[in-house]
Amino acid sequence: MTLPRIALIHFHLESNRAAPITTRSDFSAQRLIVGKDFARDLEEKPALASAGIRGFREEFGQFCPVPVFAAFAGAGGMIDGLFFDELIQVIRDQLPADVDGVYLDAHGACIATHDEDPDGTLISLVREIIGPDTPLAVTLDLHAHVSPAMIEGADFIAAYRTNPHVDQFERGQEAAAAMKRLLKGDKTGRALVRLPFIPPSTTQDTTRGPYARLMTEAIARAEHPIWNVSLCAGFSVGDSAKAGVNVTVTADTSEEALKTARKIGQSFWDARHEFQVNLTSIRDAVSMMSDMETARIYADVADNPGGGGRGNTLAILETMLDASVENALVGMLFDPDLAAEAVEHGVGAKFQAQFNRSESDVQSGHLTVDVEVVKLAKGPVDCRRGLYAGGQQDLGQCALLRCGSVFIIVTSIRRQLCDPAFVERFGLKIANFSTIVVKSRGHFRAGFDEFFTPDRVVEIDGPGLTSPELSRIDFTKTPRPILPIDSGVEWSSEAAGCVAGRN
Ligand SMILES: [Zn+2]
Repeated sequence: MTLPRIALIHFHLESNRAAPITTRSDFSAQRLIVGKDFARDLEEKPALASAGIRGFREEFGQFCPVPVFAAFAGAGGMIDGLFFDELIQVIRDQLPADVDGVYLDAHGACIATHDEDPDGTLISLVREIIGPDTPLAVTLDLHAHVSPAMIEGADFIAAYRTNPHVDQFERGQEAAAAMKRLLKGDKTGRALVRLPFIPPSTTQDTTRGPYARLMTEAIARAEHPIWNVSLCAGFSVGDSAKAGVNVTVTADTSEEALKTARKIGQSFWDARHEFQVNLTSIRDAVSMMSDMETARIYADVADNPGGGGRGNTLAILETMLDASVENALVGMLFDPDLAAEAVEHGVGAKFQAQFNRSESDVQSGHLTVDVEVVKLAKGPVDCRRGLYAGGQQDLGQCALLRCGSVFIIVTSIRRQLCDPAFVERFGLKIANFSTIVVKSRGHFRAGFDEFFTPDRVVEIDGPGLTSPELSRIDFTKTPRPILPIDSGVEWSSEAAGCVAGRN
């Protein structure tokens, strides 16, 4: 029996237009691996593959993988256009026209400096190379901005259903199941409905509140002849030309798909007033920290590296040090200079730490304080809970510093603190702290829920590039009018949407 040859592509960047441009070196520092090297990695270090690819492989069973590239940079600014063109060239060079199928694990909210829809460009190119009859299955993040080009090129689209994201592996499995049907000759129709509504990031929790209810309703509609429903929030602070809640449906026909997408879109629109932001000021949060009896986790939601935040704003830490907060941990601050300096001084050394000496973003701030180097760490961490569970993440050179009774984790790769393993690697016990401050918008919830119930979570209103207070974002490309930035926005599901594929 000849095994099917299925090409694998992993392209992941969530673009925040306000963040510095994401370059080749940002990808190289995280994951950029092409062709044969990607094939070798799949063989020798399967845990480094994306959860989507791991899920796809597990579900599909035996096939002959044709790895094209894996390019992962988490979240950052727009992708540098020249580098994106390089990736496009890699596809032209490495993707054989005669593969039996293609699985693309993408984020779906990338912006390039010269292209508002690079995910669509990539999908269109794959389609151009493989022709109209070879299956292309795509998985996306829940924060994706799906475009007409994406539903035109892909036979099947499945976006994460969870936020915090914990179902990437399952969506990869779902893509594999769809791929099997497509390889047998089944055809699909797709539909896309976009709403002029941006739910603020902190209101997009699928474990409780309106999004949870709407997601459950949407999933219930994924019955024959519907293959999949994808209810994407979009990336609220991305300032994408494709911004807004978007519903993508894959079905036996585009007519069925559109009917279902419109129903789901209407439900979301009807619930739009339920998506309310509820943040605590830095001052109030810091005074709560003096209550040592009640352990809490405080989320610096406005400086979330997972949304392109710099991961280094100091306003909360500064206020904590001024208030002499005790028994606290703050993480993770992205500061490669400081991490390197901590290594030079060595464990046990005390020195004057200058935070953000090379940072130019005014919201980040500067701080000089006396610290002690408690511990150093380097290399990949085995992730155990939430977003990265079961995989590995490299945080680069890291240092655990102490200032008074506040422990501070410094990293040299920008990453949100969403997995307890990032703290435990230093020998620290989460349960011993009465205050944990994390730079994360929401993914920390799935990592730290074993220590903190939802009533022990405080979302802080600080400075940064990922504030859920959308009135503070300078939107330039987002289609207007759009809620909640504008008022008097009208929308009707009956006229909404576009379709592709079998009708
Ligand atoms: Zn996401």
